[in-house]
Amino acid sequence: MEEKRAKRRIVLVPVPAQGHVTPIMQLGKALHSKGFSITVVLTQYNRVSSSKDFSEFHFITIPGSLTESDLKNLGPLQFMTKLNQICEASFKHCLGQILQEQGNQDDIACVVYDEYMYFSKTAAKEFQLPSVVFSTTNATAFVCRSVLAKVNEERFLIDMKDPEMRDKVFPELHPLRYKDLPTSAFGPIEGMLKIYSESVNIGTASAVIINSASCLESSSLARLHEDLKVPVYPIGPLHIAASAPSSLLEEDRSCIEWLDKQKPSSVIYISLGSLALMETKDVLEMAWGLSNSNQPFLWVIRPGSIPASEWTESLPEEFSNLVSERGYIVKWSPQMEVLRHPAVGGFWSHCGWNSTLESVGEGVPMICRPFTGDQKVNARYIESVWRVGVQLEGELEKGTVERAVKRLIVDEEGEEMRKRAIGLKEKLEASVRGGGSSFTSLDDFVNSLKTKDS
Ligand code: UDP
Repeated sequence: MEEKRAKRRIVLVPVPAQGHVTPIMQLGKALHSKGFSITVVLTQYNRVSSSKDFSEFHFITIPGSLTESDLKNLGPLQFMTKLNQICEASFKHCLGQILQEQGNQDDIACVVYDEYMYFSKTAAKEFQLPSVVFSTTNATAFVCRSVLAKVNEERFLIDMKDPEMRDKVFPELHPLRYKDLPTSAFGPIEGMLKIYSESVNIGTASAVIINSASCLESSSLARLHEDLKVPVYPIGPLHIAASAPSSLLEEDRSCIEWLDKQKPSSVIYISLGSLALMETKDVLEMAWGLSNSNQPFLWVIRPGSIPASEWTESLPEEFSNLVSERGYIVKWSPQMEVLRHPAVGGFWSHCGWNSTLESVGEGVPMICRPFTGDQKVNARYIESVWRVGVQLEGELEKGTVERAVKRLIVDEEGEEMRKRAIGLKEKLEASVRGGGSSFTSLDDFVNSLKTKDS
């Protein structure tokens, strides 16, 4: 029986973005360790870490390109819509070829596709292969999208533009307020609702895998399970369960040496993920606030994340003066290692789901400054459900930045948050260990893939 399962193949379809590639490759690692062969189907726009950790995976790139003008002008959501249109036929062709090459012995157990690569479900259906949705966000954001996909668009747009309504709790989604809903900063809400209805419409998918754990969001998971009518497998956090390096950018390890010289729990680490862009005025308010807080800080500033700048050269001299005393700047960090470092006392984050899991998974409290989409949901949960962070809302201003850093690193309040974060870290570690909820959930998923005769 084992021998037969070892030959079965799982096809993974990731979204071409760091925050999506990382968890799906980790999922691939977890499934590979359970005896499956892994094929990763990439589009022209994916880059994947060439790490030897994935040397046993098979990679296929399907054709399908956007025009130069599309690439220049489309926002991320429109890009995803277009990508889904141009990849449907080539993926069908690719899947047909894999099936042909497989023969009888080495069949495809299922296609696991990122929820935003929904073109995959048509081909899977055509070849009668089980398809499984992989959500790289959490269950709560999935529930939100499914609620939003059904709202009266006209009413919703009016409410979202009303400043008073924005502060109110959305009736079906307590404690999320209108302003916490996973709407996009990248384009009009209208387009977003359409792509959400596509991605939450799981169609013929037979299951949903979520990179989350029941200790974090049991009620959203239960609700999702009820709404979707298919098994929902929370198997995360994958970075603990199946850690696999998949950084697409070069990590600057000099920051670890810098951290080695700092006092325990004194450093605030700042990273806004792989996509967020910053306004020059916000960068300066941050620099002032950080400097005035008197705490050391490690700041990731991605090349191209500040307008009109390759890196930081367009910032006024004032910026370098402010960071030179207590700060250290890198273009990209080994984030997991940074968060694990004893000198790190807090994480200023845009609250992408991977960063959130990584921070909570290391017991590090957070300053939340979400930009868009599910980051706002995560920030609300970090502050008011798990109570392991503070959210910075409204205009960024040096005084509030300084206050937030002190609350997290210096004050008693921060110590309480750290204790709760460490409590969550322990629960998350237990969930991926033998007998834990995520561990069991992964086993349940694998068992569900057994063929009738295995
Ligand atoms: N990351 C990293 N080094 C950095 C900044 C980010 O390795 O300097 C990684 C981080 O560990 C996380 C991913 O990039 O796994 C970002 O994913 P997330 O979901 O937090 O945000 P996104 O980039 O999708 O907005």
